Amino acid sequence: MSVAFIYNDIYRYSNFGNYHPVLPKRISNVYDFTQLLNIRNNLNFFFNDVADFNTLELFHSKDYLEVLIETEKSQKISKDNSKKYNLGTTSNPIFKEMFRRHATSTGALVLAVDLIEKNYNYIFSPGSGAHHGKVNMASGFCYLNDIAVSILVLKLKGYNKILYFDMDAHYGDGVIDYFKYDSDVFTISIHQEDLWPRTGLYKEDLKNNILNLPVKRGFNDYQFKKLIDKNIFKKIDKFRPQIVLMQMGADCLIGDKMSALELSNNSMAYIIRKIKILCDKIIVMGGGGYNPWVTLRAWIYNLAELVGADYPLTLDKHAIEFLKNINYNSKPKDFWLNSIQDKPNIF
Ligand SMILES: [Zn+2]
Repeated sequence: MSVAFIYNDIYRYSNFGNYHPVLPKRISNVYDFTQLLNIRNNLNFFFNDVADFNTLELFHSKDYLEVLIETEKSQKISKDNSKKYNLGTTSNPIFKEMFRRHATSTGALVLAVDLIEKNYNYIFSPGSGAHHGKVNMASGFCYLNDIAVSILVLKLKGYNKILYFDMDAHYGDGVIDYFKYDSDVFTISIHQEDLWPRTGLYKEDLKNNILNLPVKRGFNDYQFKKLIDKNIFKKIDKFRPQIVLMQMGADCLIGDKMSALELSNNSMAYIIRKIKILCDKIIVMGGGGYNPWVTLRAWIYNLAELVGADYPLTLDKHAIEFLKNINYNSKPKDFWLNSIQDKPNIF
């Protein structure tokens, strides 16, 4: 099976601001670290461009896109527009590449669709996954909704069995609320109950293909596996997806302080492995993830699972050095510095 890794260096040099939870280099770390691993030999690397305006307009309103582009240029926004478009706030600050960075993460998913059409099986785009973005405003660090745009591109190409699986601790409101009456798109979200944006109450509506599963604090691997095996997997099987998009926000993992969920990265690998049984076209993207080691290791593990590399993923001294050199405001656990897989819990 062929695997493509889509990347752009804009993630390295753009920055939401020094006190913003989205850490600089969280995406470039994934690219750089991959270069230190044997799985790089099983990957085809692609460096994408920004999505064009017309493509962004499939989902976003013209006025919002124009304001976003203008704000990037001028680096300022009026009070009215700030309120209307939710820009220039603590969550969605004005920064130098605020439009281009998100237009790039969208361009990556548009390229992903192209590559799928060219018979690539698995696509990995860690910089994508902005699931809170709204039609006419930014939300929750997401200025554009790269996922919704790419689903609309898929629909234009005639796909009518699209599965969106959202693992992020937060409810994927920007994507799910938009497609909730669209039976071509089956959306599944597992997220922490009562966590921002606090919508995404339990809902199972298989006529419209929507499954929202809020879970309690402390949700762990055992409960995750049970939920997949006893509930979700059968429903996905029945839907028979032509393509699966997976938002793998690493804030659902133990060690990420943005949520109180306690999954290990083995849960992520497990769901990717299960989905691979049912579908041979999968786009895996990033999303939330605010602890640099937890996030990096999780997404590397996701990538390895797509490649189907043998485990354990061995790290040489350069890879270990890389992990040691990551700076953060709290100390890493010892095993974060010398292994990719979390400690096996139930798997
Ligand atoms: Zn999140």
